[in-house]
Amino acid sequence: MKFEPVIGLEVHVQVKTKSKMFCGCPADTFGKEPNSATCPVCLGLPGALPVPNRTAVERTVLLAQALSCEIADFSQFERKNYFYPDLPKGFQISQYSGPIGVLGSLEGVKITRVHLEEDTGRLVHESSTTLVDFNRSGVPLIEIVTEPVFSDPASAKTFLKELRKLIVHLGVSDADMEKGSMRLEANVSLKKTGEKTLPPYKVELKNINSFGFTEKALKVEISRQEEILAKGGSVSQETRGFDEKRGTTFSQRTKEEAFDYRYFPEPDLPPLTSKSFKVSKKLETPKEIREKYLSLGLSKQYAEVLLLDKKLAEIFDGLLSSLEGKDAANIVINRRFGDPKKLGAEGILKALGKEEKKELLSEGKLLKAAEEVVLDNQAAVSDYASGKKAALQFLLGQLMKETKGQIDPKEGAKVLKDLLNA
Ligand code: ADP
Ligand code: MG
Ligand code: ZN
Repeated sequence: MKFEPVIGLEVHVQVKTKSKMFCGCPADTFGKEPNSATCPVCLGLPGALPVPNRTAVERTVLLAQALSCEIADFSQFERKNYFYPDLPKGFQISQYSGPIGVLGSLEGVKITRVHLEEDTGRLVHESSTTLVDFNRSGVPLIEIVTEPVFSDPASAKTFLKELRKLIVHLGVSDADMEKGSMRLEANVSLKKTGEKTLPPYKVELKNINSFGFTEKALKVEISRQEEILAKGGSVSQETRGFDEKRGTTFSQRTKEEAFDYRYFPEPDLPPLTSKSFKVSKKLETPKEIREKYLSLGLSKQYAEVLLLDKKLAEIFDGLLSSLEGKDAANIVINRRFGDPKKLGAEGILKALGKEEKKELLSEGKLLKAAEEVVLDNQAAVSDYASGKKAALQFLLGQLMKETKGQIDPKEGAKVLKDLLNA
């Protein structure tokens, strides 16, 4: 009997905002002293009240739109109740029945939902104790959930890479897996080949720290499930971690169901209506952006570099009014005038102008070079005097050679003519 994998993805990205989701604490706490970026709200102290972060809502809408989602007219925050030491309130403010975006797609992959929630704190395990750092508590987090539409690990990986490009390009998140601002979960089950319905279970894979590991974790988990099913057994629904070193998955806990969380609307926050956020024009998908770059003559490799770096792409765009796409890409990607992000498009154009001027000889030097060419080529001078206009072309050629091309040919011809006619 042959089995076919069924894979669905859940992706979390921290939203790039100045402050946290429901309080004024800084959202970027990378490398900060533990528990230094906290306040009564994100520490879940009694009586503290949340105030939603408008930018976080707008960025979620932006991403949901770019994923061609339907944007909810009515959306609400809900409490997801569970106990864990990194969750001081005893619930996470999330969205369940009223997500910001639903029914989207990216490159043919169906997106179930895009919603906004708050991040939890972080547990730090030291030899004999566990410490908790609440700096991350309350950082805005977007969750993107796909339908179980992938039938092999490689296509799941390809999708994740594409999604990351879109997120980075939109400036919604750094989506940096090493810093934890992008986190992946993969759900996988096996069905008999050709079967139409979904398997009655799924295994959620956690602790996946790279796109490569997503593929690996899925592969080993698929083999594990295959073995069980081939023996006539059934796979239990659970959450499993991926052990990078051993290349295996291990059971973490049996999977809870939505009803275990006792979701209910967050009473301290009003619902979001479409008036709460700006709905923008149609957004370009990575595919469209890539095609635009390729049509400008950029190599595939350069197009990908720009897709993954929004700031660089903006500088590149700023150069297009004055430069060919290829040249502009060369300058920003190869840092021809130094760090393009420090220079900006204007700085680069200025540097370019200076370089062009520097390349041309000054008027005095041009005149001197022209005089030398005239002195050294008396035969051509007499030819010119006797009416052979082509002699001027020859002299100009000599002048170009003499000055290593650092002159404007029109300017050179004029100077030569003046000398000859004098
Ligand atoms: P939960 O509430 O447990 O997170 P969801 O129904 O929201 O469950 O699904 C979460 C993820 O699991 C989605 O990415 C979805 O595509 C995927 N999924 C659902 N059913 C299956 C299945 N039978 N096999 C693999 N993945 C599945
Ligand atoms: Mg889930
Ligand atoms: Zn706070």
